[in-house]
Amino acid sequence: MDGVPSGAARHTGSAGGRDPARTGTTGAGPAPAARHAGGAGARQGLPSRRRDRVEIELVRGLVAVPSLSRHEAAASGWLAAEMEARGLERCQVDGALNAVGELGDPDASRLVVLLGHIDTVPGNIPVRIEADGSTHGVLHGRGSVDAKGPLAAFVAAAARLGGDWARAHDLRLIVAGATEEEAASSRGAHHLLERLNGRDEPMPDFCIIGEPSRWHRVTLGYKGRLLIDLLARRPSSHTAGPEAGVGITAFDLWQRLEQVAERNGGRTPFERVLPSLRSIGTTSDGLYDTVRADFGLRLPVDFDVAALVDELTSWFGGAAADIDGPLFSDLDPERATGTIRCERGDAGLELSLRGHEIGVRADRRSPLVRAFLAAIRGVGSPETAPRFVVKTGTCDMNIVWPVWQCPVVAYGPGDSTLDHTPNEHLELDEYLLAVDIVELALRNLAAAPPVAR
Ligand SMILES: [Zn+2]
Repeated sequence: MDGVPSGAARHTGSAGGRDPARTGTTGAGPAPAARHAGGAGARQGLPSRRRDRVEIELVRGLVAVPSLSRHEAAASGWLAAEMEARGLERCQVDGALNAVGELGDPDASRLVVLLGHIDTVPGNIPVRIEADGSTHGVLHGRGSVDAKGPLAAFVAAAARLGGDWARAHDLRLIVAGATEEEAASSRGAHHLLERLNGRDEPMPDFCIIGEPSRWHRVTLGYKGRLLIDLLARRPSSHTAGPEAGVGITAFDLWQRLEQVAERNGGRTPFERVLPSLRSIGTTSDGLYDTVRADFGLRLPVDFDVAALVDELTSWFGGAAADIDGPLFSDLDPERATGTIRCERGDAGLELSLRGHEIGVRADRRSPLVRAFLAAIRGVGSPETAPRFVVKTGTCDMNIVWPVWQCPVVAYGPGDSTLDHTPNEHLELDEYLLAVDIVELALRNLAAAPPVAR
């Protein structure tokens, strides 16, 4: 998951011109200088045209192995083998089926985690590279943008740098393609949290999340989220009777969520509570009428979720007043998870909260952000204006940041408005620019003086 930019993006410099790497499609982005001969990584020796082919084959091959959430094993095995072949160290498919490779000594004084995700949403898009008049064409395929393009860019950049470079800079780099990011379980990211817990292994000093931001932007924030499932049951009533019908309970809750959103009205979509009705349906078996409805709330940073749980509990009390049954609740207001239920005889009402993630807005002045801004200007042109963006969706940044609390950004090639669409495709010129930028950002970071945490 990733989510569309929220419109809160701000220029950090003057506007750029057109991007020649994007011949006339959407035209977003400033103009990079012609990719410098061989890119920063020419130091590693491969002639640039051959290296471009090798790096394009990495992303094409990764997109070609299907990897629906909970079915990532084949893709992870493929990527771990590719990491090994490209010179990454300690490559493995770990206990959560993440594909993981490293550079540098395990006890280096600084740890940088590049955390992408290897799983995709459903929807088969035939994998192909089509010419579009640009130098390298366009890669079509599910996951090309969200988020195998960013993940492949991480692996390609790490392969250019190599283990000797990491050791020379006393740096340890971990590249991970995490599982189940799209499944709301974030199994892969949770596994990494358990492993890099500050006791068994150090927590990272910097974390780069692999999500599409376009080559010239860095993503600083993701909204939080809460999922709310409603189930109500009533004795069947004649549709010509005076009763409004069981479905009205879902409508009533929707109205309450809209009130919550109105009270939390920020200036931008990133700062507002955004409710959604994910599914709703009524059924009847002749004895009972039932409504099931699933709601979602996108939450701003620093949202008081405990107060929301209070409000939902109070709504529940009103909606269940005529049921007059015993109340069951295991709601945890701080974590915003659990269920509240009231049942007697013919009638029942149940409200479940799940999938809570807090919103994150990273520090735009961190050494990591500075390393990326300098890399974007360095790979682009001196006039390139890097931009910041925040997203209304969620990603693994929401999972790892509350624990690691280190400087973080999300970065990767691709247009996130194509996430989860039938038209998902990645411009390969942009992908190669992003590899240059990740490589240069890591070089910048390695050269930056250490910061106290
Ligand atoms: Zn994603």
